[in-house]
Amino acid sequence: MAENWRQEYLRALPGVDVAVAAARQTGGEYFPHALLVRAVQEIVDSLRRQILRAANRDELVEFQSSPEAVACAALARLRQLKQPSLQRVINATGTVLHTNLGRARLAGAAKEAMQRAAGYCNLEMDLPAGRRGQRHTHVERLLTALTGAEAACVVNNNAAAVMLALNTLAAGKKVIVSRGELVEIGGSFRIPEVMAASGARLVEVGTTNKTHYGDYEQAVDEETALLLKVHTSNYRVVGFTAAVEVDELAVLGRSLGLPVMEDLGSGLLVDLSAFGLEREPLVAERIAAGVDVLTLSGDKLLGGPQAGIILGRRVFLERIKKNQLLRALRPDKVTLAALEATLQIYLFGEPLRDIPVLAMLTMPLATLKRRAERLASVLREKAPGNLTVAVREDYSFVGGGAMPLTRLPTFVVALRHKKMPQAEWVQKLRTGTPSLVGRVQADWLLLDPRTIEEAEEEEVVTCLT
Ligand SMILES: *Cc1c(COP(=O)(O)O)cnc(C)c1O
Repeated sequence: MAENWRQEYLRALPGVDVAVAAARQTGGEYFPHALLVRAVQEIVDSLRRQILRAANRDELVEFQSSPEAVACAALARLRQLKQPSLQRVINATGTVLHTNLGRARLAGAAKEAMQRAAGYCNLEMDLPAGRRGQRHTHVERLLTALTGAEAACVVNNNAAAVMLALNTLAAGKKVIVSRGELVEIGGSFRIPEVMAASGARLVEVGTTNKTHYGDYEQAVDEETALLLKVHTSNYRVVGFTAAVEVDELAVLGRSLGLPVMEDLGSGLLVDLSAFGLEREPLVAERIAAGVDVLTLSGDKLLGGPQAGIILGRRVFLERIKKNQLLRALRPDKVTLAALEATLQIYLFGEPLRDIPVLAMLTMPLATLKRRAERLASVLREKAPGNLTVAVREDYSFVGGGAMPLTRLPTFVVALRHKKMPQAEWVQKLRTGTPSLVGRVQADWLLLDPRTIEEAEEEEVVTCLT
């Protein structure tokens, strides 16, 4: 038998009809009856759970369960449902590929292409021939022209690309991977688990820090289907290390008649090492090195939409394209449109200027300094009573699990609110319209102009003053 106080609280919960009537009496916005009833039920249910969970009466001192309180909570929930959940955010963190903020900011041409493709388009129609076409054809030639690969295909993300390629080439068979390359990315992509989900069997060779050619050679038997190399995108093994380069692995694969696949993670198409960034493998270099199947992300260093790109030799791509799983992993027209426009910039435009990710990563320090100082001086002028404003040297990061060692020198605007506690102020900025997210460091809020669009600077000032 439950305690008396608990019974009392449970008995005091209003009936759904009563709370719905109370909501109608507020005379506020009209919501359809079924929606309102459901929202009220959800609120009453959650109150009931709260009562049942409470360890003692004191936990419920602020408990509100009048019909009016329930009505008010239900209406608030419905009003929230009507607002867009995905909101624009001004990224002032300086992390260029901020996974929580949607990774790559897309190029203007990519946004326009998405808009164009949003209606009807020739996604799977060959217009001149008047026949059914294939969705892969829209970007395949651009990808092969850019990378030197024989064939290409696009799926939803790189995790899907890895899974599809492994499933096609090695389901039920063995795949050999170095122990130093069993990566976890973003908490949910783990090579051993993706491998298991694909139906392939993982054979680990070598050790965490050293894997040699002979380790692969010895592990191969008649059940082996594939040699896999995984780019350690988000960490580095340093000190006494040895890894087999992909060109050597390609030689071994050829001699044994086994395909060699590489999960490259970030797909870098242009060399950025002259700009102080780590030397990342270029996609075209890997194809030239003899990799048979290469997978990469569309929304990391490539700077396009979320997508997984599979490149490589035609024989293997033909098999991948025939896999039934591809039907479940295929990208939509809007994604393909954005990817096509992004790839066209690489081929025909000025990627360092027109692909925002690349422009941000290569932004000159003098520009960053000028923009930080300009923003700081406007803020000093507009909010002298509220803000302490300073300009400082700091570092930006690549993010998205790419180039983990690269710290890009930058200048930030460092701010402190003179009247509001920091946590409260930062939350207010985060939940404003537009939302402003910066980097908190001790009792300062840092705004890095690298990831703020020039056109957003005025809005940043409005958010802060
Ligand atoms: C990022 C990454 C992935 C996952 O790619 P998504 O596009 O996020 O699915 C897989 N492998 C490597 C090596 C990566 O860096």
